[in-house]
Amino acid sequence: MPALKISQGDLAREYTELKFEIDAAIGRVLTRGYYLLGPETEAFENEFGSWLGRKHVVTCANGTEALTLALMALGVGTGDEVLVPANTCMPTATGVKLSGAKPVPTDVDARTLTMCTKSAIQAVTPRTKAVIPVHLYGGPADLDAIQSLGLPIIEDCAQSHGATYRGRKAGTAGVLSCFSFYPSKNLGAYGDAGAVTTDDDKLAERLRRLRNYGQTRRDHHEDGGINSRIDEMQAAILRVKLRRLDDWNARRAKMAARLDAALMGLPGLSRPVTTNGGESVHHLYPLLTDQRDDLAAHLEKNGIQTRVHYPTPLHLQPVHEAWKLGKGSFPVAETACRRVISLPFFPHLRDEEIDAVSDSVRRFYVR
Ligand SMILES: *Cc1c(COP(=O)(O)O)cnc(C)c1O
Repeated sequence: MPALKISQGDLAREYTELKFEIDAAIGRVLTRGYYLLGPETEAFENEFGSWLGRKHVVTCANGTEALTLALMALGVGTGDEVLVPANTCMPTATGVKLSGAKPVPTDVDARTLTMCTKSAIQAVTPRTKAVIPVHLYGGPADLDAIQSLGLPIIEDCAQSHGATYRGRKAGTAGVLSCFSFYPSKNLGAYGDAGAVTTDDDKLAERLRRLRNYGQTRRDHHEDGGINSRIDEMQAAILRVKLRRLDDWNARRAKMAARLDAALMGLPGLSRPVTTNGGESVHHLYPLLTDQRDDLAAHLEKNGIQTRVHYPTPLHLQPVHEAWKLGKGSFPVAETACRRVISLPFFPHLRDEEIDAVSDSVRRFYVR
């Protein structure tokens, strides 16, 4: 057994780099004794908005509820349908379900594995009220094509902090755009957090009410709403990490290029490509191969942890049996789920570890 162990993510390395600033940020919050919707939240919302180029950032408790709040702000709920790609993780659908609306899956494009516009057109009914393209693996979905549906677009930017599409940052195109700051995302808190971004003043104001029991001022409620707030410690931590985000994304691009140089060209191995006119921030490094399970077992034996993003498309999850969309409903998504595998990939991975990973993959193909 090799001594080498390379995991999917080692966030303690990042904390070691930032310890001084993170400890100071947490200390500042504790000393102030103010824990929700305070100065750190406001400062982070302003700083993230300037970085993104968006007028309003409304933070919330997590990325799932960011999607729910976005739908609630648009008045989408029970009896409505919302298009989502079949190849995404469950929270994209969960966020829709929490609003009362029904997520309706579409197939994905074979090259990018993001929402297929043709399939989306076929899924539209009179009840369809919004579409949620997911910028998957760090690469943008084809927003121009999806725009042609004529539906309000809510971007799922949980994996795409800093990605661009036709020169604009992901998270600036949808009427509303949703971010997750789950710890392993390109910008992650040390706990749960999320945000909705918009340029629309009215929607922003509504979102601020909705995340705080519909409250406009103390004990005065004009909206339903839920409790979905970020906490001041996470906001303070995110402010520290936001200042590193561009460097970490640049590091991810270098790492992806290093892996590409070592792996692309091996027979039977490919990568999802980025939508035309888009630039990925490489949230993950997914490969596509018919020998996915054997490759995973080989890497595991060499001390390298892999993951599958995602093994089951939304429509084949047991919880969605009632949709009656069986095997074969979305062939491209289903094939991707059988062939995709993610290598260890996070900005604090060292070059020698990256090379150990690519050497191990090469040994699988070139024996
Ligand atoms: C992580 C993620 C979410 C949900 O984020 P949480 O903060 O865990 O609720 C939603 N959509 C996608 C595509 C994600 O990767």
